[in-house]
Amino acid sequence: MNIKPLDILHKYYGYTSFRKGQENIITSIINKEDVLAIMPTGGGKSICYQVPALCLDGITIVISPLISLMKDQVDALNTMGIKASLINSSLSNSEYSKVLEEIENDECKIIYIAPERLDSMEFVNIIRGKNISQVAIDEAHCVSQWGHDFRVSYKKIPYFINRLDKRPIVTAFTATASNEVREDIVNILDLHKPAIYITGFDRENLSINIVKSSSKNKYTLDYVENHKNESGIIYASTRKEVESIYEGLLKRNYSVAKYHAGLSNEARKEYQENFINDDIKIMVATNAFGMGIDKPNIRWVLHYNMPQSIENYYQEIGRAGRDGEDSECVLLFSPGDVHTQKYLVEVGIENPERKRVQYKKLQQMVDLVYSNTCYRKSILNYFGEPFLEDCNNCSNCLNEGEVVDKTLDAQKVISCIARMKRSFGATMIIDVLRGSKNKKVLDLGFDTLTTYGIMKNYSNEDLKTFINTLVSHGFLDVVENIGPRGSFPTIKLNEQSLKVIKQEIKVEFKEDKVTKSR
Ligand code: ADP
Repeated sequence: MNIKPLDILHKYYGYTSFRKGQENIITSIINKEDVLAIMPTGGGKSICYQVPALCLDGITIVISPLISLMKDQVDALNTMGIKASLINSSLSNSEYSKVLEEIENDECKIIYIAPERLDSMEFVNIIRGKNISQVAIDEAHCVSQWGHDFRVSYKKIPYFINRLDKRPIVTAFTATASNEVREDIVNILDLHKPAIYITGFDRENLSINIVKSSSKNKYTLDYVENHKNESGIIYASTRKEVESIYEGLLKRNYSVAKYHAGLSNEARKEYQENFINDDIKIMVATNAFGMGIDKPNIRWVLHYNMPQSIENYYQEIGRAGRDGEDSECVLLFSPGDVHTQKYLVEVGIENPERKRVQYKKLQQMVDLVYSNTCYRKSILNYFGEPFLEDCNNCSNCLNEGEVVDKTLDAQKVISCIARMKRSFGATMIIDVLRGSKNKKVLDLGFDTLTTYGIMKNYSNEDLKTFINTLVSHGFLDVVENIGPRGSFPTIKLNEQSLKVIKQEIKVEFKEDKVTKSR
């Protein structure tokens, strides 16, 4: 092997330099190390295994679950003059035989294969006798039950690798970075002392905005009107909500498509193609839409609801601005979104352990929404990528609101919780602080507490926001209690709460006053 990666990048791809992270990953692979690379959607993963494929002697097998993406990749490689083929359920018998023949005759440098085809005896028999330099596993999170897209067929991968005469370099790529998923990938795929890279999560060209809005509909209509000539996606949590937003926009003659799991395959395909080909500008969708979509000119992503986790959120906004041009992401948040997501966790996940993990992720998403620090920094740190400066391009950085001292109000909340003795949910705490005559409050004798009614000046909604903000800043903890009739969160004091009470620390928040970022 004496071809330099950079020469390959110039020669075949026509790019002048590697992106952040790509070069280190490629060097590791060429030095025959197993690799786990965690890179965001659009970060440039394919080059990380394709360039080594061309540097190394022998064949690279790429395992990928996405049939449409596979075809695009193989077409692109062939256009560049690289011999690549694919094996998946879209092939006819004769096409399949032709690919096997090409492999047999050493006419193939890169083979894309769907995981469910890995146990085909014909394929295994031919491939066993060949020099396989690398097995690259795309969307490697699919091997993990903790990931958002578990696929049983991914379990075949280690078995397949074991059947090869010589163990190749095994490389795994994903955009999902949680610890559980990471550990599963390393263990289940049996990566040998992998070099782990978490890289390139920052998408500088995306401005990240979170708006706490009670009038989402109006906001959306205004937003669409101001961006109607640009391609954009509106994500909503439920099919029902997608339908209602879609109808509303269609009625107003906007160029709009929809996508969710309740539509027929044909309808989904047609809407998706219309959107990708720019025949339709706006896509309204649930999170079922987007995996494997490589549309470069999506200029905005509007979240009508808060997603279930920071992973989901970042993956979804990551579909904007793949061409590198400035793009805008706006999340419209209302407290009702949390209930919807809890409901979806409750009905969507059976395994109690997974449920607990998902509730934790949901809480981290909620904390992000209420936090006052740079959103980009918080998100990148969440993914394990160090990012120290403020980005000056998110709605927190651009928030020109005053910093206000909320220590006294925080003390009122904390001492009320302390006096209530047992753990209660936010609603009960709010009732006591606002002096509600609710039967439960009176039955428990909370109207005799000195903190009863001391925060009457707050509206119900504002007090809820305030308590959530205290939680997101770590001044209070939320404990999710999973019971037979669903889950309910209760609020607990922690060390920080006690410090607030003892006047050891101050509670200071910035008020929301956001200027436009774009
Ligand atoms: P992913 O698989 O991580 O979602 P891709 O591999 O499809 O991302 O890459 C996303 C886009 O970025 C593609 O259009 C690709 O050609 C481009 N790209 C990747 N690496 C580079 C680079 N070093 N220089 C310029 N463009 C790049």
